[in-house]
Amino acid sequence: MAKFGTRSLERLSTAHEDLQKVFNEVIKYFDCSIIFGHRTPAEQFELFKKGREFQHGQWVKTGSVVNYLDGYDKKSKHNYSPSHAIDTWLYPIDWSETEEMKHFAGFVLGIAQRMYDKGEIKNEIEWGGNWRSFIDMPHFQLKG
Ligand SMILES: [Zn+2]
Repeated sequence: MAKFGTRSLERLSTAHEDLQKVFNEVIKYFDCSIIFGHRTPAEQFELFKKGREFQHGQWVKTGSVVNYLDGYDKKSKHNYSPSHAIDTWLYPIDWSETEEMKHFAGFVLGIAQRMYDKGEIKNEIEWGGNWRSFIDMPHFQLKG
């Protein structure tokens, strides 16, 4: 049975209790790392700046961006405390394993739905990999 490492546990502890409950169940079956729970506005802004440059008074896309929310004007679900989102990936991390992540996400959503139906968690969980406009595969969040 897999277990979270110290850093994953620390990060998970900054997330909403429903996300903690779901991933404490998931880890029994799939080894995964928690990459982010809560993010401060400054941490959010660091991610926002990736793939962008400040030109003529505004941020302009100059490469591949990983985030559309700057943490100040636009808040992410990671910026709540506790966070309403977590980022995770299968351990050991290989970003090319997108097919494996789809399989993993299906499992996570199945566990979450069962826990929701049984009243063990209060919120439904959704996966950023199912979004149309900006596919965010590491990202799971409370619905709504
Ligand atoms: Zn995220």
